[in-house]
Amino acid sequence: MTMTAPGTTASTTYDLGPAAALSCRACGHRTALAAEFACPQCFGPLEIAYDFPKVTRESIERGPKSIWRYKDLLPVPSTVEQHPNMDPGFTRLVKADRLGAELGIRNLWVKDDTGNPTHSFKDRVVAVALAAARELGFTVLACPSTGNLANATAAAAARAGWRSVVLVPASLERAKILMTAVYDTELLACEGNYDDVNRLATELAFEQEDWAFVNVNVRPYYAEGSKTLGYEVAEQLGWRIPAQTVIPIASGSQLTKVDKAYGELMSLGLVDEAEYKVFGAQAAGCSPVSTAFREGTDVVRPQKPDTIARSLAIGNPADGPYVLDAVRRCGGAITDVTDDEVRDGIRLLARTEGIFSETAGGVTVANAKKMVESGQLDPDADTVLLITGDGLKTLDAIEHQVGPKATIPATSKAVREVLGL
Ligand SMILES: *Cc1c(COP(=O)(O)O)cnc(C)c1O
Ligand SMILES: [Zn+2]
Repeated sequence: MTMTAPGTTASTTYDLGPAAALSCRACGHRTALAAEFACPQCFGPLEIAYDFPKVTRESIERGPKSIWRYKDLLPVPSTVEQHPNMDPGFTRLVKADRLGAELGIRNLWVKDDTGNPTHSFKDRVVAVALAAARELGFTVLACPSTGNLANATAAAAARAGWRSVVLVPASLERAKILMTAVYDTELLACEGNYDDVNRLATELAFEQEDWAFVNVNVRPYYAEGSKTLGYEVAEQLGWRIPAQTVIPIASGSQLTKVDKAYGELMSLGLVDEAEYKVFGAQAAGCSPVSTAFREGTDVVRPQKPDTIARSLAIGNPADGPYVLDAVRRCGGAITDVTDDEVRDGIRLLARTEGIFSETAGGVTVANAKKMVESGQLDPDADTVLLITGDGLKTLDAIEHQVGPKATIPATSKAVREVLGL
């Protein structure tokens, strides 16, 4: 499964900052840094093994207000190209007292990742993938996507002056199609669901040697970008890890990497050792991981997705088993909610905090509500909800739920009548 990047040989050494090697999550086998994603021994997923330099709170705090403040903890060149004011990350962490009161959680925060350049957390992972792909010798950025990754990949490639190829299921939300196409990428709407598109991308990654599929052949690098969510939450809380973090699950990568980030911060001495729990959130119409959690098994059985939460609609999640491990190890939980609950979650967050999230955020809020009610979330423990995408991307999800109270003649009499004044 070795894929040597164009113009390089297997023995090339790369400047990928603190990244020391690729290591197999299944068998522990180590290989040199390269554009590989599957273990040559057992085909298990590869991830980055590090040799971290001395990092302090002060050295991080002196950095830019973007994910690059953590570059010494990421697999990117030490001279990573930066675009101040356009780089993702360092989004706001909002104390959410009104939402907390509604959910019955005493101390609640919302990590609002709608503020990224293309309005979802995917800008983080794409930025790291692009930086690594450039160092590995690629010249084209590509991805299969459920939508947000398409937006982020097309925009990042445009900014870098790279060609990009984006594959999406043809059924995607209109906004996500337009928000990708506008960047003049080679956007291909494919028949089938995300899992079909992902299979196609894996095939193409072997045929097109100079294409970096961010979440396929450079996935080990890409996935590390999600750690920045965990680093930021801890830093923004005053360098401590929240007792409970609720995280939406698509492939499961984000959840496992936030957990990894918390562990790294503790082992690097950047935060005090503390017990914490991570919780996974899915939609009932695509709930392979929460189903396995509920059934107490390690086997994540693939599903055919049918939910309005299309950004999370991965029926065969690559990191499912690792999510189960992480959540069970810390004593967290994984649940799922119906599409109606997702819509209610979007509206609850908007009504209480003035934050408009896409369906994935509705999934997180609604699952948090459910887990407080079931006693799985402790209402007295500090809790952070990850809100990972913007509501403007999924207007269709709520278009039949909200709208004007009335259409009236432009007279004060009509206003008084309608509002009962
Ligand atoms: C992709 C995505 C996620 C989760 O992604 P993972 O594949 O689990 O890392 C969460 N929220 C939004 C809005 C996304 O687009
Ligand atoms: Zn292996």
